[in-house]
Amino acid sequence: MTEPSADVVGLAGLPGLGWDEAWAAAWSTTAPGSGLVPARIVGAHRGTWEVALGGVDAPLEARATGRLRHEAGPAELPVVGDWVAVDARPDEGAASVHVVLPRRTQLRRRAPADYGAPFQVLAANVDVVLVATSLNRDLNVRRVERFLTAAWESGARPVVVLTKVDLARDPVEVAIAEAQLEEVAAGVPVVATSAVSGAGLDAVRAFLAAGRTVVIIGSSGVGKSTLANALLGEERLLVREIREDDARGRHTTVGRQLVSLPGGEGLLLDTPGLRELALWDDGAGLDLAFSDVAVTAESCRFSDCRHASEPGCAVRAAVADGTLHADRFDGWQKLEREERHRALEMDAVARRAEQRRWAVIGKAGAARSKAKRGGFGH
Ligand code: GDP
Ligand code: ZN
Repeated sequence: MTEPSADVVGLAGLPGLGWDEAWAAAWSTTAPGSGLVPARIVGAHRGTWEVALGGVDAPLEARATGRLRHEAGPAELPVVGDWVAVDARPDEGAASVHVVLPRRTQLRRRAPADYGAPFQVLAANVDVVLVATSLNRDLNVRRVERFLTAAWESGARPVVVLTKVDLARDPVEVAIAEAQLEEVAAGVPVVATSAVSGAGLDAVRAFLAAGRTVVIIGSSGVGKSTLANALLGEERLLVREIREDDARGRHTTVGRQLVSLPGGEGLLLDTPGLRELALWDDGAGLDLAFSDVAVTAESCRFSDCRHASEPGCAVRAAVADGTLHADRFDGWQKLEREERHRALEMDAVARRAEQRRWAVIGKAGAARSKAKRGGFGH
C-alpha cells in the first residue's frame, strides 16, 4: 500500500487550508498577540490537537495554553476545523494553542448531562454538508429532513446526495426519489450519484472548491465512505483506514481528520462521531416532526421533562383533556425512545473507537520516539 504523501495538509499553505480574507480580517480584530501564527486544527485527541500551518510540511502536535484551558468553556476548546492562533515550534514538532478564532459554522449536538455546556461542538468551519441517502433502502425522507436541519443549524450549505442510483431497475425510480427529496430539501440541491458507474460525481465535485471544507453525513450504509473515497481518489486513505495502518506503525498520519482533496478541490473533514446523525442530533428534527408536542412541552414545569411522571407535565395534561391526540404523543414517545437508544449506542461505539485509537496512538508514539532516537525523525 502506498504511503499517503503529497496530500499532507500543511503542504497546501494557508489558502489551501481554507484561509481567506474574512479569516485575515477576523485575525486582525482578534489581535491574538505577537509571535502567534494562524493554524488549522486537522486532528483532535483528548487534550491534544494536530495543527497544520501554511509552509510547514507535517502537522504539529499542539496543546492548549493553561490560560485557554482555564478560560474556555468545554464548547470553546478547539475542535477539528477550527482556526487557532498558535505559538509554533516546528523544530520540536510542537505548538501551543492560545486563541480559537470565532467559528464561522459549527456542527453540534446536545451535550451529555455532565458536560458543562448545553452543546458539544463536533466540527467547526465546515462550508458544505453533503447529506447522503441511498436509493436502495426505503427512502427515509424524515431522516433526510433531520440531517438537513442539523446542517442548516450549523450555518453550512447543505447538498443532498442520492447514492447508489445504479441499483434502480428503472430510471423512473430515480426520478421519483429525486422528486421526493427535492420536496423535503426545499431549495437545497439534490444530486443523484453512483460510485459504481461514476455518475453524478462531477456534479458533487461542483460543490467543492479550493479552500472549502466539506463533510459527508448520513445513516450507516448509505455509501458515505465510498463517496469519500471516490472524492479523495483511490490512493488516498480515509481516517478509518489510516487508523488501521497506524497499528502497523504508520504514525505520520495518526488521527488526521481533515484531509485535502485532490486537485486543490478543498478539504474533506471526517471524524467518526460526525458521520451519523444520532451523535449530534440535538432533537431539532424530532421537534420539527412533532411540533405540536414540542409546543405543548414548552409549558411543562421542567425544561427537560420527558412527559413520563414528572409533576407539572403539560403534555400529559393535554393528552388527558384531549387537546393533544394520544396517537401523536405515542408517535413522539416511540421516536424519542429510538433516538435515545441510538444515541446511547453510538456513544458506546464512539467510546470504543476512541479507546482503540488511544491504543494505536500509544504504539505509534513509541514507534516515533524510536525512529527519532534512530535519527530517522523529521
Ligand atoms: P457508509 O456506512 O455510509 O460509509 O457506507 P459505505 O460507503 O460503507 O457503503 C455501504 C455499502 O454500499 C458498501 O457495500 C458499498 O460497496 C455499497 N455502495 C456504496 N456506494 C454504492 C453505489 O453507488 N452503488 C452500489 N451499488 N453500492 C454502493
Ligand atoms: Zn412534560
